[in-house]
Amino acid sequence: MTITSYNCPMCKRWEDESDLRIAEFEYCYLILNRDQFFPGYCLLFAKQHFTELFQLDKVVRQGMIEELSQVAAALYKLYKPDKINYELLGNMVPHIHWHLIPRFNTEPLWPRPIWSDPHEDLYLTAPEYQNRCDLIRNSLETI
Ligand SMILES: [Zn+2]
Repeated sequence: MTITSYNCPMCKRWEDESDLRIAEFEYCYLILNRDQFFPGYCLLFAKQHFTELFQLDKVVRQGMIEELSQVAAALYKLYKPDKINYELLGNMVPHIHWHLIPRFNTEPLWPRPIWSDPHEDLYLTAPEYQNRCDLIRNSLETI
């Protein structure tokens, strides 16, 4: 049985943002974040509507962490950042979704969290989104 929540934007995100799809895993979906102010910024979110890590079956939780690690390794290989940031907040959208962000010590915001200062969203063209998704997918396939 699939658990979904009515009115949850994350439950519909795989369908709603099909142009940003990167990969489907066993427990999670991976999409590129629409705002690419931080290049390679991705979202990895649970296929089902879970809100807290401790509520997951151990097998699901471990599987999710493994998928998270694979994505981080792919981003690291592709972007060679100084650090990968992992953020699981859920205050606005409680459905478990990880923010995965390659970070560089040359950024104005470094070493603070990406949320520490507002920035103007950076949107790409459709071919640019496609290209970035392809690069990350290819990197995933070679780790
Ligand atoms: Zn949901």
